[in-house]
Amino acid sequence: MNEIELKLQKAIDAANSVVVAGHVNPDGDAIGACLAMAACLDKVGKDVVVLLEDYDSKYDVIPGRHYIYQGDYDALTPDLFISLDASTPDRLGKAADVMKRAKATALFDHHLNNSIEADIRIVDTSASSTAIMVYSYIDRRIVIDADIGAAIYAGLIYDTGGFRHRTTTPETLEVAAKLMRAGVQFSKVYSSILFEKSRDKTPLFARALSRVAYAEPEIAYTYITREDMEELRAVGYPDGVVDYMINTNGVNTAVYALQKEEGTEMSLRSRVVNVGELAAKLGGGGHKAAAGFTVKDAPPEAVEMIVKKLQAEQS
Ligand code: AMP
Ligand code: MN
Ligand code: MN
Repeated sequence: MNEIELKLQKAIDAANSVVVAGHVNPDGDAIGACLAMAACLDKVGKDVVVLLEDYDSKYDVIPGRHYIYQGDYDALTPDLFISLDASTPDRLGKAADVMKRAKATALFDHHLNNSIEADIRIVDTSASSTAIMVYSYIDRRIVIDADIGAAIYAGLIYDTGGFRHRTTTPETLEVAAKLMRAGVQFSKVYSSILFEKSRDKTPLFARALSRVAYAEPEIAYTYITREDMEELRAVGYPDGVVDYMINTNGVNTAVYALQKEEGTEMSLRSRVVNVGELAAKLGGGGHKAAAGFTVKDAPPEAVEMIVKKLQAEQS
């Protein structure tokens, strides 16, 4: 164990109550990392809850939803707070105040420019997921069972796009093999999280694709407005729009804007521009090839703004 790992071990040993939290609008990595960490801490006798916003039912294939706290956040003053897969305090949403009150704090993350303050900071921008970072801790601490394994596996596959992205390493596959040996129903987890489509969301997905437009050099962009949501009586947001676009031939950068009540959420993907750095300048964050940020402007103006910036980066 290195110094930081030893410090984490001591902080966990000293704590009775632990709060584990992931980023707002949680994805497979945030959910998987949080639920795996919570199950491990539960096994070693900690009083643990997880703070995560509501998430899509496709993630119910990840065991451990019962760790998610439904009570009043003001009532929480944990001995230890662990932030997972969040890069800025805003990304923790309401949980950021709980972090401020905690007696000790730790974080695991793999985003560029992590700016969350914590007593113990474990940041590895080369890690393919936060779940694989959490795995290293959990594997030292307990014997990983099929349920904890499934949660870690969910994070691994979500953030690597099913072992496709360039962030995938031999170690990612070695960990996946170990999880398979622990009895994880990998095929079920993989298809629920990465392939399953929702009938309710298909019309909105079609609307987004019908509006895809292109700009030089090799940029594709599209958006969904609140009017689209109303017109199509959509109940949730479609997944995979930006991934569809980046996998279109002749496209090396993709922009997808989703207008919500609070603002427009932008999703960026690129093989040629460091979108993580660009998103960070615009108040968001992410990784080199996948990033996001939120703006007040509505589409299509919000999209035009970012397309211009992406063009300027390549001129
Ligand atoms: P998404 O396009 O939502 O799949 O996000 C791609 C990546 O960017 C993920 O790693 C997110 O954690 C990160 N990201 C998305 N939106 C934001 C934001 N507003 N602030 C910081 N990071 C973000
Ligand atoms: Mn995430
Ligand atoms: Mn992640």
